[in-house]
Amino acid sequence: MDKKTFLEKIEDLKNDEYMSDAQLEIFRARLVTLHAEFEERRKAKESEMMSINMRDASDEADRAQLIELQNLVLREKDGISNLSKCVVNALKAITSEDYGFCLQCGEEIGLERLKTSPFALNHAECLSDLDTTAKKLTGNIRIAG
Ligand SMILES: [Zn+2]
Repeated sequence: MDKKTFLEKIEDLKNDEYMSDAQLEIFRARLVTLHAEFEERRKAKESEMMSINMRDASDEADRAQLIELQNLVLREKDGISNLSKCVVNALKAITSEDYGFCLQCGEEIGLERLKTSPFALNHAECLSDLDTTAKKLTGNIRIAG
């Protein structure tokens, strides 16, 4: 079994032609893993939502706290859903051979940026709103590996 991490694999191929088949395969595998991970987290947040029962509130203060918790979990769930969508879009870009090139200007996004944000579809300079959200969220959610 290949024990190298995603970053090590990309590092090994950094002198390849940009977005070579080998690089794309590593990004694709990484995105598939991330997608599974985000879906799992989204489901966990959904069950957390379901487990919050307003009838458990004993008084008004308790109720207010539960509502606050509910909003927090909902925001987290939405954030994860957005990330998951970014990953799906990146996987589509691999299929359509647009991956690694900025959607706005068509220039190479660059391996360095893709290493930290494998689902980036734009340059840092050409960030879309969606990507800004994703970037902000990944600051809060640690991605393993
Ligand atoms: Zn650009």
